[in-house]
Amino acid sequence: MAGCELSPEQIEKAVDFHGHWCPGLAIGLRAGEYVLNHMGRAEDEELVALVETDMCAVDAIQVLTGCTFGKGNLIYKDHGKLAFTFYRRADGKGVRLVFDAQRLGSPDSEFTELTQKWLKGQIGPEQEARLMRMREERTKDIMGSPLDELFSVKEPDVSMPRSARILTSLVCEECGESIMESRTRRLAGRTLCIPCFQAQG
Ligand SMILES: [Zn+2]
Ligand SMILES: [Zn+2]
Repeated sequence: MAGCELSPEQIEKAVDFHGHWCPGLAIGLRAGEYVLNHMGRAEDEELVALVETDMCAVDAIQVLTGCTFGKGNLIYKDHGKLAFTFYRRADGKGVRLVFDAQRLGSPDSEFTELTQKWLKGQIGPEQEARLMRMREERTKDIMGSPLDELFSVKEPDVSMPRSARILTSLVCEECGESIMESRTRRLAGRTLCIPCFQAQG
């Protein structure tokens, strides 16, 4: 088993959607590839993804697996981990893929240091060129390595999230805007939206 077996069209679609080609997108592509191989695609919300990062990788996952934020079958937990759990509704099968971020660079590596400078806009042209080369190397490594080398494959550590989203709307008694019932707050006998509730607090 070698590297990525996705078609050039699949990869191109993800790059188009995301806006650029980067190591994070490559991680998402490979996670998506694993899911397509083992669980199929979410034509009809049959797959649910639970992602523990909000970075680049998630865009590739949305394009490849059909689990999208808007459909409600992409759930985000802010854990800061490159961990992606997928569930198949039909039989409840689930898998948790964990990418080792150290593969990109340990916390004290030059790559990490340059990336931080770059994100803060404090990088010179030479260092930037060097960083771009390093990013390309990492992207190549991720695309060219076997899946079982990239991800630890684990059992999901939580059971499949509930599917139905409650669509009943109530009206906020402060601003008059409609809100999903499950997001309303009660304050002194009034029904409020979260921003108004927070403004009163
Ligand atoms: Zn990116
Ligand atoms: Zn309000």
